[in-house]
Amino acid sequence: MDAVVIGAGAAGIAAARRLLALGRTVQVLEAGGRLGGRAYTDGASLGAPFDHGASWIHVAETNPLTPVARALGYTLRDERRRVRDILLTEGRPATPAERAAHDDAAEAWEAAAEARDAAGGADIPLAAAVPRGGPWDATIAHWFSDIISGVGADRFSLRDYVATALDGANLQVAEGFGTLVARLGEGLPVRLGAPVRRLRWDGAGVTAEGDWGALRARAAIVTVSTGVLAAGGLRFAPDLPAEVQSAIHGVPQGLLSKVALRASGPGRLGLGPFARLGRRVAAPGDAPMSWMLWPWGRDHVVGFIGGDAAWELARQGPAAAEAFAREDLARFFGAAEVARSLAPGAVATGWAEDPLFRGAYSHALVGQHGARAALRDAALAGGRLRFAGEACHPRLAGTVGGAWESGEHAAAEISAALG
Ligand SMILES: Cc1cc2nc3c(=O)[nH]c(=O)nc-3n(C[C@H](O)[C@H](O)[C@H](O)COP(=O)(O)OP(=O)(O)OC[C@H]3O[C@@H](n4cnc5c(N)ncnc54)[C@H](O)[C@@H]3O)c2cc1C
Repeated sequence: MDAVVIGAGAAGIAAARRLLALGRTVQVLEAGGRLGGRAYTDGASLGAPFDHGASWIHVAETNPLTPVARALGYTLRDERRRVRDILLTEGRPATPAERAAHDDAAEAWEAAAEARDAAGGADIPLAAAVPRGGPWDATIAHWFSDIISGVGADRFSLRDYVATALDGANLQVAEGFGTLVARLGEGLPVRLGAPVRRLRWDGAGVTAEGDWGALRARAAIVTVSTGVLAAGGLRFAPDLPAEVQSAIHGVPQGLLSKVALRASGPGRLGLGPFARLGRRVAAPGDAPMSWMLWPWGRDHVVGFIGGDAAWELARQGPAAAEAFAREDLARFFGAAEVARSLAPGAVATGWAEDPLFRGAYSHALVGQHGARAALRDAALAGGRLRFAGEACHPRLAGTVGGAWESGEHAAAEISAALG
């Protein structure tokens, strides 16, 4: 066996495909019962495809999965501009002037982060580089940092924020992004239900061990999340070098959670497919959800919550997440209308609680912006043990496309090391 790949998410699938294309023998070991990892489409709970994890093909112009999705006939929708159909402030829709002020504040916020980054010097928290105190500043910070990046701006590296900011087209996949990633893993030599508890490594190769047995290979690519690695969900013998451990801890997992609610009748809250709702941060500590209503004309709505508020809801459990979501929606439509239009029960994602993930995607801590490249370039056991996954991509971190490219890169490096 040339290589063992640990994890069958986007990075692991891409790595295995590339290794096979290079003529290598490979075995993928996946702890869970399915392919795709954090790209997961649930076709059952809502009676329609629902992506618990990734749902947009970001930076679609250069994303390696865009041509694949098109070639396989997936239904794609470009959502380049996420204009809010309702932007709520002080319990009412924002006026055109307030909307313009919001948009200007967003532009100024991003420009300030970029300018401060371009000025060089030591890394600082994102929060220290951006405007504060204006009527929309906290709302913009909440959107770009807590929701999009899964972490509060006070703990997020400015350099990493700017380096990994996403631009260009965002394509949604009607059939579910998760179905695409899982499909690309079909036919690969994957063993499901095979958690690797310990990876022994030395100059001659690696041995992956678990309750299911042990597998010896000449090389290994580890693709599990930095949350799993930091929590000891996969142990190494000997221990990883200090600089690799430091890199893992430098790019921890943030959290984005989704709560989906289903319509209870034909009423659609007066809004059409893909309607987007958001509201102003009302006071310090307020954590508005971001909403997408009736995607593809389906009978459900999806609320997004990120950062500390999402971790807190994960601790409290799915009933708290549903209550939080209903309360947030009630600010737009009133509690009675929400109760009338949306059936009891919710589907809440559980990425934080799941020991196979322990979060949604990574961010660099302040001063740790070099950790992604350090993880990508770590070549242990004479180049036979490497890391891959979204956290290892200095540009497309936190995305499926980044995970994919990272897996392909590690595979090429491993193959070269094997000679
Ligand atoms: C809510 C949410 C929304 C998102 N939205 C988007 C989006 O719109 N667009 C986008 O591009 N990205 C999005 N992402 C991020 C994207 O899903 C991830 O960046 C990407 O899927 C990560 O792939 P990966 O291969 O690096 O890791 P993973 O998908 O985590 O794959 C690692 C695999 O390792 C397995 N594993 C864990 N421990 C072990 C073990 N001990 N032994 C063996 N196997 C193990 C896991 O089960 C998993 O299958 C989102 C993520 C979340 C959670």
